[in-house]
Amino acid sequence: MSELSDYYEQIKDCTRCQLYKSATNLVFGEGSETADLMFIGEAPGRNEDQQGRPFVGAAGQLLNDLLKEIGLKREDVYIGNIIKHRPPSNRDPLPDEIEACKPYLMKQIELIKPKIIATLGAHATRTMLEDKVSIGQVHGQTFENKKGLTIIPIYHPAAVLYNRSMFDVLKKDFASLRALLDKCIAEQEARHLKGSDKYDQGALF
Ligand code: URA
Repeated sequence: MSELSDYYEQIKDCTRCQLYKSATNLVFGEGSETADLMFIGEAPGRNEDQQGRPFVGAAGQLLNDLLKEIGLKREDVYIGNIIKHRPPSNRDPLPDEIEACKPYLMKQIELIKPKIIATLGAHATRTMLEDKVSIGQVHGQTFENKKGLTIIPIYHPAAVLYNRSMFDVLKKDFASLRALLDKCIAEQEARHLKGSDKYDQGALF
């Protein structure tokens, strides 16, 4: 059993906040356990709650399509959420729920060691940047957070479900993400050629 699945076993019966009472399943996250790119969404919706998997509803289908546009598949990346149990009626997560759940996400990041974290939407972005930023102002740009993690905020795919004109914005954000990933790949290859890549975790995709 991998360390990550072991960790899932440890937390799957979580009762740290009230959300477990109304949820069906804890949605841990899924994808490559050695992914260079990790997506962090907000919280499970109805479909995710029923299936115990992240981004399997309409927003998930859009995420799959956007990944395809930049030459990636779900299995190439890791997909998780800030909150692991569905908030009732998809309401926004409360600050104490985010605080209760955040250590789980931090442990997942520690185990997966992604080189890039793409935060989907305002909640994930604010949580990872520890700053009340506006997604409208920061999306598509790259930041290093206080823990030294590389963060690229992106609009949440669900934004397109409410406003089709957001599709072009989201496509642009994904193009910025692809460019950042290519830069990371090129830097890793350059270090590798110099024989100084002490942080080589294997091939990038
Ligand atoms: N929206 C999210 O933020 N996460 C999911 O898993 C599904 C929809």
